Amino acid sequence: MVERKSIKGRLVIVSGPSGVGKSTICKEVVKRLDNVCMSVSLTTRPKSEEEIDGKDYRFVSKEQFSEQIKQGNLLEYAEVFGNLYGTPKDKVEQCLQSGKTVILEIDVQGARQAKHFYPDAEMIFILPPTQKELLERMNGRGREDIETAAVRLNGASGEIAAAWQYYKHMVINDDLQQAVDEVIEIIKIVGE
Ligand code: 5GP
Repeated sequence: MVERKSIKGRLVIVSGPSGVGKSTICKEVVKRLDNVCMSVSLTTRPKSEEEIDGKDYRFVSKEQFSEQIKQGNLLEYAEVFGNLYGTPKDKVEQCLQSGKTVILEIDVQGARQAKHFYPDAEMIFILPPTQKELLERMNGRGREDIETAAVRLNGASGEIAAAWQYYKHMVINDDLQQAVDEVIEIIKIVGE
């Protein structure tokens, strides 16, 4: 169990549909702000060619993931589009204890679990300007086949509906720099 009273830094949860540009925004925010780190999630999803193990994700087998759950090492976890994703507790706790802001880029189910442990967590949801734009971005990154992209697009509607209920901040990623500026502004305000 996380001891709320001893936590110094802030937790910032960033969610949004696949292909909306969350990772790009978060990486840019980390580059531009001191004292902000990003959690590296575990996943059972296969690694794509451009991804680096240990940097983008820690790619693990289902057995390894189950072991982490059993050991109580995950702050939250969820099945997203048939694969498991989870946030290791240790790094998040270390960063928070040292006064850093930690960004978790996770789905809506995981966000609700993390918010339970860290009620002060700031919740940011990234929206695409239009559904058409989202589909084009998914196709553009060429990471998934057309069926997978369709499943992910369908999932986006449910996530966006849930987001209105749980997220305090909605940021539209129409212009990347503007979206990054908005996220930075939110982080700066909550850090004051
Ligand atoms: P992708 O496969 O496109 O990298 O990620 C798919 C979804 O899983 C995205 O919505 C992403 O935010 C989410 N995700 C990534 N890491 C985690 C995690 O540690 N926990 C949870 N719950 N979701 C995650």
